[in-house]
Amino acid sequence: MAEAKRIAVLGAGPMGLACAYDLVRLGHRVTVYEADDRIGGMSASFDFDGLEIERYYHFICATDHPLFKLLDELGLSHTLKWADTRMGFYYRGTLYEWGRPDRLLLFPHLSLIAKIRYALHVFYTKSVKDWRKLDKIEATGWLRRWVGAEAYEVLWRSLFELKFFEHAQRLSAAWIGTRIQRVAKSRKSLFQERLGTLDGGSETLLKEMEARILAGDGAIRLESRVQEVVAEDGKATGVRVGDKVERHDAVVSTIPLPYVQRLVPALPEEERQRVAAIDNIAVACVILKLRHAVSPYFWMNITDPGISIPGVIEYSNLHPYRDAHILYAPYYMPKTHPNYRRPDEELIAEVKGYLKRINPDFAEDWVLAAKVSRYEFAQTICTPGFYDLLPPMQSALAGFFMADTSYYYPEDRSIAESVAVGRRLAELVGR
Ligand SMILES: Cc1cc2nc3c(=O)[nH]c(=O)nc-3n(C[C@H](O)[C@H](O)[C@H](O)COP(=O)(O)OP(=O)(O)OC[C@H]3O[C@@H](n4cnc5c(N)ncnc54)[C@H](O)[C@@H]3O)c2cc1C
Repeated sequence: MAEAKRIAVLGAGPMGLACAYDLVRLGHRVTVYEADDRIGGMSASFDFDGLEIERYYHFICATDHPLFKLLDELGLSHTLKWADTRMGFYYRGTLYEWGRPDRLLLFPHLSLIAKIRYALHVFYTKSVKDWRKLDKIEATGWLRRWVGAEAYEVLWRSLFELKFFEHAQRLSAAWIGTRIQRVAKSRKSLFQERLGTLDGGSETLLKEMEARILAGDGAIRLESRVQEVVAEDGKATGVRVGDKVERHDAVVSTIPLPYVQRLVPALPEEERQRVAAIDNIAVACVILKLRHAVSPYFWMNITDPGISIPGVIEYSNLHPYRDAHILYAPYYMPKTHPNYRRPDEELIAEVKGYLKRINPDFAEDWVLAAKVSRYEFAQTICTPGFYDLLPPMQSALAGFFMADTSYYYPEDRSIAESVAVGRRLAELVGR
């Protein structure tokens, strides 16, 4: 076993917790610092009118292997539950069933050639193994070349534009490709999508990691925002929380990279510039607790001139709750977009209007509770050539290690990837 070190981990999201869990197992003395009043970061839960629920929707795919391995180690595999799910597509005033070859054939707004090209693209993307080939290619051009202008306009354009806005044409094809592959591989058959959740939600995993950290030589300090990573003679020596400096042999940051620029004055200039080049998309996610389901679909893509969000997620169609139906309606956008500053009530009212369009039976009294969760760093903008943009996890500042959700690249953000990256960090630091 390596010599025991005192190690600070910044952030108690799944990445920070997975990293700390492994470091404690290696015999190190670990302190996790978390700015929030709870663990979990983007996967944290809150009390939603009596229901413990996640701030953002979380589903598990059949390819989430790092998560399955950790669940197994923690004795939690039995909490993983799979469900057959359906996908919808609200296109210009009509709701269609989606996500199956027969539904694609029946869809009236595309020619047969466009449908064939779209299907071929999904089959091709499902089989890709080496994402490096697509890393430097721009995503919308790649999609247009494969599916043609017609299918791109109908099926893809608004998904890009209503999530990435002015950044829509700055995305890597590898990043879009892994998203398509992840969902395409999570199927029981060609006709049946299958997705997972944990009994008790992501909280089940988070709490178990917390318990293991606390049972070892670890501590988790909530409401403890790290203000600075302190360094002496080119080496990280501790963290400053409030006006107190706490000494450590190594510091691991799992907080969003943009914070790292400010927090680590001793970060070498070349790494600082790399960090500064990485942008994120924010989210304001409306969550509604409803009396009834709006549709039978878990995931609904939307392309409609009167609706300014790219989709809604009816979570209860994957993970049922006893007395209520849960729906998430995410507004993704650069944080400079005016919607990010709009009051919660306006966004909630707008979403209710959208639901009425989608299902005319929807009525105001269906809404039992409403809330908006916001996060500035919901999605990294993974630009072409992103592999070369990321600074190394092991900084040239000795004793300092960093990663955040951008290190999943080319994979999409997921708890499984947080776990994988957290464990890679632990390996680097702990040895
Ligand atoms: C809308 C949305 C939908 C998603 N859907 C899915 C899904 O379906 N399936 C899936 O698997 N994943 C999904 N994810 C992704 C998943 O939530 C993330 O991948 C995961 O939670 C990231 O964990 P993390 O630990 O890397 O980062 P974070 O969750 O961002 O955690 C970072 C932590 O650092 C803390 N922090 C920040 N600054 C400081 C500081 N100075 N000092 C101390 N602490 C600090 C923050 O408070 C936070 O708790 C979704 C995310 C979003 C936003």
